[in-house]
Amino acid sequence: MQQKTVRTRFAPSPTGFMHVGNLRTALYEYLIAKSLGGTFVLRIEDTDQERLVPGAVDVIYKTLEKVGLKHDEGPDIGGKFGPYIQSERKDIYKPYAEQLVREGRAYYCFCTKERLEALHEGKEGEFPGGYDRHCRDLPKEEVERLLESGVPYVIRQRMPIEGSTTFNDVVYGSITIENKELEDQILIKSDGYPTYNFANVIDDHLMHITHVVRGCEYLTSTPKYNLLYQAFGWEVPTYVHLPLIMGKNEDGSVSKLSKRHGSTGFEDLMKEGYLPQTIINYIALLGWCPKDNRELFTLPELVENFSIDGISKSPAVFDYDKLTWF
Ligand code: GLU
Ligand code: ZN
Repeated sequence: MQQKTVRTRFAPSPTGFMHVGNLRTALYEYLIAKSLGGTFVLRIEDTDQERLVPGAVDVIYKTLEKVGLKHDEGPDIGGKFGPYIQSERKDIYKPYAEQLVREGRAYYCFCTKERLEALHEGKEGEFPGGYDRHCRDLPKEEVERLLESGVPYVIRQRMPIEGSTTFNDVVYGSITIENKELEDQILIKSDGYPTYNFANVIDDHLMHITHVVRGCEYLTSTPKYNLLYQAFGWEVPTYVHLPLIMGKNEDGSVSKLSKRHGSTGFEDLMKEGYLPQTIINYIALLGWCPKDNRELFTLPELVENFSIDGISKSPAVFDYDKLTWF
């Protein structure tokens, strides 16, 4: 069988700054692609219009440029590859959701905000916190009437109620979740934009992504992505979830990385005088162990030495004091 070209993507949501967590994701995506002779793609996931931060795309783009994580393709912006930007691809997603509706794998939901809020507060029905599948089997004529009369709607996936979904992660192994824990997820929101999960899956498929690399906070939602691949009959990519990054406290204990552990933003570290190369070298070792005990690597040396099986699942500790040794 012919081996497929490895393709990875860094898919940040534009939140306005780059910290050691998302920079590590970008770095590992880059290293996986480059160490296997593959292609690295940059995709901005900005379909959540309420959370848009002006200038955020620029920050991501410039940071990656400074540290040398150059992406290999994208729309032309003045002779350079720009990132793929989901809000500029908005019209691509909905037809896929409509395809699932035609196939009976998704449906229109006309529930009002008030009704959903009451459900979420557990005031109504037997689905505290989740959607009660109210519109799942509305009669066809009723659906047509509501669509024609212009009532706002979302499109939801008809999730399996029985059984379980299992997927394999390269770092964390086999993971199973009971399907009854998954509510019928929204694919298209009432403003016509795709949800974050839906756009993510469609784009990973359309961009032929072979390895999805992201923080382990996404492990529990990965079955939702898998059920979408299944609904379309598409091949599931290889998942590489990365260990948590912890910060070191004064008493030597560790806890979830936050500002009190010292600077964790790329720009702050730069202002303190760290060179991009030093930052990248340090971040590379947050969750990846080289085969020998070597600690100093340039970016090309990282490419040469990186391998997925060196990624560990135990939490990595960001030790701000140690950064100064590099
Ligand atoms: N857009 C997500 C984030 O910024 C990334 C999810 C993924 O890589 O699949 O955290
Ligand atoms: Zn509904």
